[in-house]
Amino acid sequence: MATAYDRDNIFAKILRGEIPCDRVYEDDHVLAFRDINPQAPVHVLVIPKGEYVSMDDFAESAGDAEIAAFVRAVGRVARELGLQDPGYRILANHGADSHQEVPHLHVHIFGGRPLGPMLVRT
Ligand code: AMP
Repeated sequence: MATAYDRDNIFAKILRGEIPCDRVYEDDHVLAFRDINPQAPVHVLVIPKGEYVSMDDFAESAGDAEIAAFVRAVGRVARELGLQDPGYRILANHGADSHQEVPHLHVHIFGGRPLGPMLVRT
């Protein structure tokens, strides 16, 4: 069964304007802002404005317009940040094994330095 959306999560508060963010892009469906604890010289989070816990929820329940806007925004934000060349990485965590901390779908965009191997073996 799908996890219920928590309206008190930190990104819901950002979307409601209750806490600030360092915004880099916004449209009707999407907000993008800089991560508060950057893991690379450029570390931006792209989130849908709708209430979706993760990619699992979004892929299952979002409308086509929301999905199209989200995918286009990820590409556009990376391009506008100048990351298209030399490159960047996108990442989205879902659930406990991925260590998802914030239960509102977000795609991380990392760039600005060589990013190393995709995953660290533990
Ligand atoms: P995840 O582990 O994929 O859920 O990532 C959550 C991300 O949200 C982390 O990289 C945090 O640094 C970031 N984060 C948490 N709170 C804020 C905030 N108020 N503004 C910007 N980024 C945040």
